[in-house]
Amino acid sequence: MNKILKTLMLTFAFSFGAFAMASCNDNTSSNSTSGTHVHDLETEWSKDATKHWHACKDCDEKVDKAAHTWGEWIEDKSATDTEKGSHHRICSICLYRADEEIPMLSPEFGAATELTAIYAKVPTDWETVNIYYWGADIEEGYAVGWPGNEMTLVNADEALFGYKIPAGTDHVIINNGSVQTVDLEYAPSRNLLVLDKLNAENKYEIYYSTYTPTDSDPELAQPEYNIVEKITVYAQVPTEWEKACVHHWGSATSTDWPGEEMTLVDADKHIYSCEVPADITGIIFTNGAPEGTIQTVNLELVDGANAFILTTTDAEGHFNATVGVYENGNITQL
Ligand SMILES: [Zn+2]
Ligand SMILES: [Zn+2]
Repeated sequence: MNKILKTLMLTFAFSFGAFAMASCNDNTSSNSTSGTHVHDLETEWSKDATKHWHACKDCDEKVDKAAHTWGEWIEDKSATDTEKGSHHRICSICLYRADEEIPMLSPEFGAATELTAIYAKVPTDWETVNIYYWGADIEEGYAVGWPGNEMTLVNADEALFGYKIPAGTDHVIINNGSVQTVDLEYAPSRNLLVLDKLNAENKYEIYYSTYTPTDSDPELAQPEYNIVEKITVYAQVPTEWEKACVHHWGSATSTDWPGEEMTLVDADKHIYSCEVPADITGIIFTNGAPEGTIQTVNLELVDGANAFILTTTDAEGHFNATVGVYENGNITQL
C-alpha cells in the first residue's frame, strides 16, 4: 500500500468517526431530527424483554423507547396439583409476547385415613432413610420414636423409598439419621416427597409430586402395632420443690424438657407419681422450672423398684437418687 492511499484512508476514517459521533450526541431519543442528521427509522419496532423502540437505520439511536404496555395475562395451560401451568401477555404497542410459568398448585393437606403408602426421593448419597410421623389421631400402638422407622428402597437409581404410614398421620419428617427435612404436612393427593434444597437451618425443603407404584415394587415396610405397657413411678423430691416433673426417653413417645408434670400423691412426704412407658431407657426428675431447672442425674428404671428417692447433689448440682418400693403410702428403700 502506498503512502498517499494510507493517508487518504486515515483521513476518511477520522472524518467518518467525527460525523457519527456528532450525529449521536446531537440527538435525544424523543426527537427524531436534528440539525445534522434526520433519523431514518425502521418501520418495525425493535424490542427486548422489557422495552420497545424504533431503531435508526443510520445510527445507534433508539427512538420512542418505552416500557412495554402489557395486556392482561392469557392462560395457556392451567397449573394443577402435579404440573406447572403457563400464561402469556402481549405488549399492545409492539406485540412483544412474554411467556411465564404458573407454579404448581399447593396440595390440600390432611390426615391419612388408613394405612397409606408414601414415597420420598432423597439425595443419592443417603443410605438409610427413615420416616418419622405424627398426628393427633394416630393409634397409640403405632407411635414412633425419633428418628422414625426405616423406609423400603423402591428404586436405587432414583433414590426412591417408600413406607406405609398409619391412619391419622398428618405430618412426617424424612431423615437419614443426621440430615432431615423440615416438618412436612401430609398431602393425601400427593404421595411423593421430593427432597429439593437445604434451607438456612440445613434442613431439606421438598416439593410434592406423585408416584405411581408398579407391580415390581417391593412390599413396603409399615409400623408394627405395639402397645407399650405403662408403669407407675413414684419420686420423693426435695421439700423446696413446688412441683415435680418427669422427663424420659427411649420409648416411642418421649417428653419435652423439662418434663411432664407429675401428680402429687403425698404432700407431707413430697411424693409424686406418674405413668411412663415400661420400655424407656432413661428418666430424669425435675422441678419443672423452664430456666435454671433443678434436676436429677440420668436415671434408669430398676427391676423390682417403682420409686426414686432424691438424695445428695453431685458437682453439677444434679440430684442423685436411690431406688425403693412405694406401697401403702410408704417408700421402702431397697
Ligand atoms: Zn439516526
Ligand atoms: Zn412493546
